[in-house]
Amino acid sequence: MDRKISAEERKESDRQVRKLLDEIAARNRRHARAVKAGVPEAGIIFMLGAKILTNGYPITELPSCGGLKTYGTDHRDFWRSLQRMGVVPQDTVYDEVPRGRVVYNTKTKQFHLMADPCILKNKTAVRKIMNELRLPADSTKIETDEHYRCPKCPKGKQVGNEGKRGERQITRSRK
Ligand SMILES: [Zn+2]
Repeated sequence: MDRKISAEERKESDRQVRKLLDEIAARNRRHARAVKAGVPEAGIIFMLGAKILTNGYPITELPSCGGLKTYGTDHRDFWRSLQRMGVVPQDTVYDEVPRGRVVYNTKTKQFHLMADPCILKNKTAVRKIMNELRLPADSTKIETDEHYRCPKCPKGKQVGNEGKRGERQITRSRK
């Protein structure tokens, strides 16, 4: 259906597009500044073979939700975009791959790296994650999470049970 757009409507729509572009540019500038300043990131992680794939965002640019800062994308979406980019195999489902998440607790000022035991037992992988997300070693807690267990994880065996209560709180506040 065709509808005539008045000059006034067009002007308003142009104005809105410009405003949106300005906002995006400002956000990109803030993001670049935070990265340059070494601000740590919250985000999500996959480990594919020796490859660590992260999708994070500087915590200074993230809103706090119930005292936690998390980065909004979920593992499935991230995996799909990696598949579109041809970075990961098309025939592998995201939950077959060891994965994890980093959240920041604004009250305790601690980062929590929660990940599949297959990732956590690999010192090189953990170091890569810490480097890529610029996580401070002295205020990052490394934990398992019941959600992050791949088919290759040892069955019925929990690794590193300490801090279980904190984990559960975080799990609940994650959607
Ligand atoms: Zn595993």
